[in-house]
Formats: sequence, structure tokens, C-alpha cells
Amino acid sequence: MLKLIKGATVYAPEKLGVKDVLIAADKICAVEDHIELNGNVEVEVIDGTGKVLTPGFIDSHEHITGGGGEGGFKTRTPEATLSGLTRYGITTVVGCIGTDGIGRDMCALVAKAHALEEEGVSTYIYSGSYQVPVHTLTDSLMKDIMMIDKVIGVGEIAMSDHRSSQPTFEEMARIVSDIRVGGMLSGKAGIINIHLGDSERCMDLIERIVDETEIPITQFLPTHVNRNEMLFQKSIEYAKRGGYVDFTGNEDIDYWETICDEVRVCNGIKRMLDAGVDSGLMTISSDGQGSLPIFSKEGEYLGIGVGKASCLLKEVKECVERTNIPLEIAVKTITSNPADALKLANKGRIAVGKDADFVLLSEDLVIDTVIAKGQTMVVGGEPIVWGTFEEKK
Ligand code: ZN
Repeated sequence: MLKLIKGATVYAPEKLGVKDVLIAADKICAVEDHIELNGNVEVEVIDGTGKVLTPGFIDSHEHITGGGGEGGFKTRTPEATLSGLTRYGITTVVGCIGTDGIGRDMCALVAKAHALEEEGVSTYIYSGSYQVPVHTLTDSLMKDIMMIDKVIGVGEIAMSDHRSSQPTFEEMARIVSDIRVGGMLSGKAGIINIHLGDSERCMDLIERIVDETEIPITQFLPTHVNRNEMLFQKSIEYAKRGGYVDFTGNEDIDYWETICDEVRVCNGIKRMLDAGVDSGLMTISSDGQGSLPIFSKEGEYLGIGVGKASCLLKEVKECVERTNIPLEIAVKTITSNPADALKLANKGRIAVGKDADFVLLSEDLVIDTVIAKGQTMVVGGEPIVWGTFEEKK
């Protein structure tokens, strides 16, 4: 029941220096310079010497039931697996449906979130769908967020995209109000996760709601802000107003920069910091299990890939190594920032009373050990706990 991580350099995410961290069951119960346990208490000691300890990563946008389908049924992508999260340090995931809100539904999303939770990670979901009127589990969004524990907001709703249902101002304002009030009444974030497409309208609709209604800007978590230069520039101005912005990470970072004007995450975060954006407003998510059409340099369609959760740490590592952003700032984007945006009070920080979710990394930021809710999931970079039907490999 007790675990003691000794002598790791702790990023809580702020840098605390070398500390011992004591875990009792699924909670952090002490963070001290030196912790010695006397008597006959049984404790598992994990040596953190020369290693970096961060909170477990939070992926705020992942298609856990699979996504895709945009190239016909055979392009539907597979569901998320336990080790597909834990081996990359993700201990908390927020599931959403994607473009296909018919072949994937809310019942399946709730069931999948429960499955991953039973297997060992923490899960939440967004109610609703890409399309408007949003698909719900009960007869209303407000009832979904108030009565279903897993629901913390609505999303991903598409706008400024040819695949969206072209939501109007009135439709969006109603959705936003419903989820916000339902969130207030149930003590949850009531966040609106918005998929931003490639069109020039960018985040106009969100800004109109912020300007013309009483809804605060922090109610929104727009994602894919780095998908093109034009949208990114508008996102800088949006974040300077105090809005959260979510970058979509990439598994193959170099590839995407060469085929379109997607903004490399590390460069984007650096540019936002240089422009004076609050470092607490930026998050990175994986868009994991979504479909990724692959093209040659000449623009020829080569096939379809699947988004992976591995990109969170890759992007943070790039921030540190390529753009010299301090680790304690970079790692906030996948720990305390999403926890704050989503109002997950026990997540995203290493402090007494918080959930025992950790990633222990080598000095060059390679995953060694992952602990989720006090359970060791990964050792030496390899999963030791597997999902129910996973092939161990
Ligand atoms: Zn999307």
C-alpha cells in the first residue's frame, strides 16, 4: 500500500529540487527532503536518483473509442488501449467522439471510459459530438453533465471546418450556456472543447460569443490551434485575452511541418510565451486514435495512419531541447494546465493530497516508470500492466 520514490528531481510541475515522495494507496501523502519510515511498515522503495519526477500526463482530447472513417468505413480507427496510454506517461485521458457521431455514440464512449478506468487510468469524457445539434446520452446536455460522473464538458464540436454542421451563433451560445450552467450545478468545468478547422473564419464564432454574451473566455478549450499559420496568429491574440489554447501534438513532428504550414508545437509555444501569453493557458493534446491521412511530399495520398498518445512527451521534449523552454514551463502544458482548464482538482500536480499519478523520466526525458492512481504501470519504459484483451508486446 505504501510506495516511496526516493531522491528524484521533482517538477510539481514547478521545480522543487531533489525530494522523496510518499504514496499511500492512490494518494500522495508526503513530499519532503528526506522521508525515513521506521518500524515494521512494509514499503516499496523506488530509486529516483538521477531521474526527473513529474505528474502523470493528462491528454485532454483523445478518440478513445476510435475515430476516423472519413475515407469510408474501412478507415475507421481502432479503440485506445491501456498500454497505448501508460507507456507514454498518460495517466488521465478525456475521451471524445469525432467526425463520425453516428457510428460512434455516447453509450460506447461512456462504456470505454469505464473500461480504461477499471484497467487503471483516470478517464473523463466530453458529451456531445462534432455535429450540432449535439448528440447526448440523456435528453439534454445539462442532464448529461449533471447526472453522468464521467462527463466534464461538451465536445469536440467542429467549427470553421467543411465537415462541421455550420453551427450558428444562436446554436453555439445555447450549447455553451447549457454545459456551463450544468457544470456549475454539478461542480464540474463545463468546458467546451472546440475543433477548429482550416477555414478563414478561425475562432470568430467563439470570439463573438465571448464579446456578445456573459460567457467567460475560459469556458472554451479550442483545439488544433497550430494547424495553420493564419489560425495560429489569431490564437495568439485569443490567448492574450485570457483564453485557453490547445495545441495538437504530432507523432512524426518533422513530417507535418514539411507538407503544410502547420506550426511546430515547440515553436508555437515559444512564440506565444514571447508574445506575453500566460504560460498557464497553453495545453497540448494528442488527438489520439484519430485518423491521419499520409501524403507524399508531392501531395500524393499514400494511406492512413492513427494518431498516438506518444506525442505529448515528444512535444514537451522538443520545447526543452529545441526552443530552450524550461522543463517546468513546458511540462505544465500536459499536467497542471489541462487540470486547471478541466477543473480536475486532484490531477496535474505533485502535492500532498493529490492523486498518485507520476512519470519518472531519465535526465534526457525518456520514460522509465509510470504510476497511475498509486499502481505501477510501466517499469524501465515497458508496461507491466496490460489491458484486458491486449497482446503483450
Ligand atoms: Zn478535431
